[in-house]
Amino acid sequence: MDPFQILGVSPRASWEEIRRAYLRKVKSLHPDRGGDREAYLALQEAYETLRRACERRRRVQVLRERPRGGEYLLSFVELTVREVALGTERWIRVPDTPGPCEYCEGLGLDPYGRFRVCEWCQGTGLLPEEGGRYHQLCPRCQGEGRIFLELCPRCRGKGEIRREKEFLIVIPPGVREGDLLFLPRSPEGPVTDVFLEVFIKRDDRFYFEGQDLVCQVQVPFWKAALGGYIRVETLEGEEEIEIPRGLPGGSRLVIRQRGPFRPDGGRGDLILQFEIWFPEEYPPEALRLLERLNHIMEESYGRTTSSRQ
Ligand SMILES: [Zn+2]
Ligand SMILES: [Zn+2]
Repeated sequence: MDPFQILGVSPRASWEEIRRAYLRKVKSLHPDRGGDREAYLALQEAYETLRRACERRRRVQVLRERPRGGEYLLSFVELTVREVALGTERWIRVPDTPGPCEYCEGLGLDPYGRFRVCEWCQGTGLLPEEGGRYHQLCPRCQGEGRIFLELCPRCRGKGEIRREKEFLIVIPPGVREGDLLFLPRSPEGPVTDVFLEVFIKRDDRFYFEGQDLVCQVQVPFWKAALGGYIRVETLEGEEEIEIPRGLPGGSRLVIRQRGPFRPDGGRGDLILQFEIWFPEEYPPEALRLLERLNHIMEESYGRTTSSRQ
């Protein structure tokens, strides 16, 4: 079973979220409090699996080119602009060596399905040794006395089950679209070299411009006219900034060293790109005031401003 599902967290959950989910669930599932024992054990195991994976968390190498030859696993990882700018951690799941199927004990046959009585031992599971005093296990049915006729539904007759391993990887800031995150094979790590190609999720507000990050900010026209404080989205969350009276559309405000982290540890800039926003509908009162404002302004500035400097 999937450890994330058992804990009820997303596969993107941080270690703190996993720990909180565990502590919440472990109380209600504890057998001493009337919880279900099976579910309790499954929860413990899921938590342990992720805790160990978390201790093994590893920083990936960032490569620009695909490996040539050799056996490896190629997958992809999708990152948000913010994750790219600040760096992030991500759970990944890779195939592990197959393990024996516990349901059929590796036989590949369904031990609860149809069967026929073994014709060698007539169902006793034993064959007489020569002389008749001792018995040996029937080699035809391995002592079961019966021959199972249906394939194991869990492993589909293979006798082994595919397994997966979870890893928490540390992705440094500054990766680019198409970069490859490399996690080498190791006894503690994945059984084969893993390469993850980076995709950057499209974002309506943020985009990269060289080493810097541009954030598009929509300013309502009345706010642009009057100036004052507006809330903007930065990499660290929402913040209030002051804009001047008469903010021109298309203008920019550069916030130094608040942009993406670079691989060398420094930071680019965050550039706020202002656009003037007009609502589609107005409250009737606002529309009346706007018409009145238009009238007043026309008296001061004339009907058109297109020819004025
Ligand atoms: Zn037999
Ligand atoms: Zn099986």
